[in-house]
Amino acid sequence: EAKSKGRNNFQCFNAKMEASLHGLLQLEQEISKGIKAGEFELYYQPKIKTDNGLIVGAEALLRWNHPTRGVLSPDAFIGVAEGSWLIYPLGEWVLENALSQLLRWQKRGWNLTVAINLSVKQIENPHFIDAVGASLRRFGVSPHLVEFEITESFSAENEQNIQALHQLKALGVHIAIDDFGTGYSSLSYLNKLPIDTIKIDRSFITHMLEHEDRLALVKVILQTAKILNLQTVAEGVESKEELEMLQYLGCCCFQGFYFSKPVPLPRFNSLVLGNQ
Ligand code: C2E
Ligand code: MG
Ligand code: MG
Ligand code: MG
Repeated sequence: EAKSKGRNNFQCFNAKMEASLHGLLQLEQEISKGIKAGEFELYYQPKIKTDNGLIVGAEALLRWNHPTRGVLSPDAFIGVAEGSWLIYPLGEWVLENALSQLLRWQKRGWNLTVAINLSVKQIENPHFIDAVGASLRRFGVSPHLVEFEITESFSAENEQNIQALHQLKALGVHIAIDDFGTGYSSLSYLNKLPIDTIKIDRSFITHMLEHEDRLALVKVILQTAKILNLQTVAEGVESKEELEMLQYLGCCCFQGFYFSKPVPLPRFNSLVLGNQ
């Protein structure tokens, strides 16, 4: 009895693994088709100056208009893309689209920055730096208006990665550490990597007014940034009170639902028009 049950469990486990492997391969195929079919779209979340409330830029955030499952957030597919070669065409698509959008804003006379999220795998790709340089030249956009966001999954111990980041920086673009404070080596990043901006992770901003320890950490991050002459962006600001605290603490910029969720391009453009 126990034996057959055990065997059933084993079969069940195998079936599950097979199903998830099948699902994974299917998802990879769908992403690949989706890129060709134009199912991906960039949403834009405004980056706001805390002292005057003006939109200074946008973070490009990837969405997938899936043919049957609706609009999907990156959490539903970016990990799978990163686990395969698909992150390269997808990352390239994001880069091209964000830069061509930046050019259109420039042509309208809008002095906005655009922030682009990078996967570690893209930076590790030996062709990446040249590809970015070529795209910047092709679109003719000012490199200093482009900010690349890397997370702390980027190893500050890997010499090749550090070198790649310096080469990226030499193109004239800005570099931000995303989700700052969530990794275990945050501080070592700051003197090893050519960083311009710290984006304070949402988890510190959320409830910073109710939890003194979170507020203390936000203060330390802001003080550190000031000493190192780095720009600061608070992520995930959802209330007026949080914004007021960040203004008081001298945090340069913020993003968050309090001002706007990430929105499709036409909506972002009307936010800018209404903000001038
Ligand atoms: P992220 O770069 O840290 O982006 C911030 C995430 O927080 C976004 O989720 C945004 O919608 C969400 N958010 C912004 N403000 C608030 C707020 O006030 N409250 C709450 N609760 N959430 C807020 P999203 O768009 O689902 O993106 C998730 C992650 O996916 C991003 O985190 C980024 O790491 C990754 N990602 C997005 N687009 C790309 C891309 O083009 N390439 C790569 N490699 N990764 C991307
Ligand atoms: Mg980001
Ligand atoms: Mg973040
Ligand atoms: Mg994140």
